[in-house]
Amino acid sequence: MNGSLSTGSIPSAARPATVPRPDRSPAAVAAEIQSLEFRFGIDGAHVLARAAELAAEARGLGEHALTRWARLLEANMLRRNGDLAAAAGICSEVNAWAQQHRHRPLLARSHQQLSIVHDNLGDIAAGLEHAVRAVEALDDDASPRARGVILLRLADVLAQGGSIEAARTRYGHAEQVAVTAEDVDLHLVVLNNLAYAEHLSGDHERAWAAVQRLRAVTEAAGGQLSADALDTMAMIQVGRGRYAEAAEIARGNVEAYRIAGPDDADGLAEYLLTLAIAQRHLGETAAAQASLDRCTALCHERELAGVEVRVLQEQAELHAACGDTGRAFTVHKRFHQAERELHSQQRDAQARARHAVFETAEARREAERFREQARRDPLTGLPNRRYVDETLPGVLAGGPVVVALVDLDHFKRVNDVCSHEIGDRVLVALADLLLAAARPARFAARPAGFAARLGGEEFLLVLPGCGAGEAAPVLEEFRRAVQDHPWQPLTGDLPVTVSVGAAESGPRDTQRTVLGAADKLLYQAKHEGRNRCVISR
Ligand code: GH3
Ligand code: MG
Ligand code: MG
Repeated sequence: MNGSLSTGSIPSAARPATVPRPDRSPAAVAAEIQSLEFRFGIDGAHVLARAAELAAEARGLGEHALTRWARLLEANMLRRNGDLAAAAGICSEVNAWAQQHRHRPLLARSHQQLSIVHDNLGDIAAGLEHAVRAVEALDDDASPRARGVILLRLADVLAQGGSIEAARTRYGHAEQVAVTAEDVDLHLVVLNNLAYAEHLSGDHERAWAAVQRLRAVTEAAGGQLSADALDTMAMIQVGRGRYAEAAEIARGNVEAYRIAGPDDADGLAEYLLTLAIAQRHLGETAAAQASLDRCTALCHERELAGVEVRVLQEQAELHAACGDTGRAFTVHKRFHQAERELHSQQRDAQARARHAVFETAEARREAERFREQARRDPLTGLPNRRYVDETLPGVLAGGPVVVALVDLDHFKRVNDVCSHEIGDRVLVALADLLLAAARPARFAARPAGFAARLGGEEFLLVLPGCGAGEAAPVLEEFRRAVQDHPWQPLTGDLPVTVSVGAAESGPRDTQRTVLGAADKLLYQAKHEGRNRCVISR
């Protein structure tokens, strides 16, 4: 049986168009992504290629959310193709983006995808956590397909973790969504996964009941059970002791595959294994051996390591059934060895995928550090002009602000008489005095102000939530603090002072107008003899 709860090879709708259509609207791109995501039984390679094109198209349109949406589609296909590490990296990146931008639909989808990734990694706890978060992020306007698939994910991971009772409730919720929305494909996948979950939990009768409902819904929709669904059914019949029925279904599957099988050998190997198991139970040991031999050859040819391990297990059972305990024992040992090797390969794959998740988080921290660095002056550690350009408009919009330009007096002399290095140290010392002035003790209850270095020896002080009258003593205190600072060890007899031009912003002021006003007042302070503050009222 195809050993996955996310199975679902329900025949899909027509293939999506492959022709790139230039100059499409974002809505048209979104519609195509939506038509491809959460589809069951789709052509993976085709959708993978198309998803990459859609992501590029969305990026070209400058659509950030749409780009991530297409990337998630790509990740889903990569995961199905077995590239768990690549899928994990993309899902984590999109998840972080969705959190940062509070984009709930993408948050829900990326959590759903991360749940499957962690589930595949063998980390059921993390899989469950992401599934729960996906459900939490579901909004009322989520599409029924999205809602159903996310509820189904929660059910699947609960079943995987052995909580079959809790899983049943969620399968019920997902089924309700499918029925209400008349979404037959979703309904079939829910029933298929429910049947498989019941089978895994060992409740063959409930599993059988689910399969009967699966068959009824399929027939009502005028369709036929998929081969995977039939394989699940055959295994359930084995569980119920109905070996002849199981063998008949499995034989039908193998035969149907021969006539019109898709180009994936996984399925055929699974059906042959199911057939061999049923045949052994029926006492048809020669036929069982023939089925197993075909299956083994297929496993070697297509490198189906996962199936091969179970083939060895069944081979040991078959030897034992034939009374050949010696060979049964030998093959049993080989089975354990193969199982260990498979687990170790899986662990390697898991480690790579975990690393991809970690690297995404690391890259994010790195980008954050870079962002932070790009907004800071390296000499003084103060915010720089870029920070001011990004921050000041918002501060101005928040009400009256006093904006003060601070310029060192005759600073060229410090450089000339002392040295450029001493000049630098004066700038650093001045930055400390500015920081103290930006958060004066008497303004403790007001919004925090900030100091910045605009360039050269020109600085900015921003005091929000106060008028010129209240700012005047703060600025005057600062001017005096600079004048009285013990500069002697740095500049000797050369005094260090500043001139300040400060303007209070009005409701119509912009960054440009308020800085222009402050600059005029600074010029006036220089003109009137320096070492002074000129503040507009
Ligand atoms: P004023 O009182 O009119 O402002 O005179 P000033 O000499 O301070 O003005 P001016 O704008 O003519 O000179 C500014 C000087 O600041 C020139 C430049 O060498 C110096 N300067 C700019 N950036 C730095 C820096 O990062 N480090 C050092 N040490 N000096 C700098
Ligand atoms: Mg100067
Ligand atoms: Mg200057």
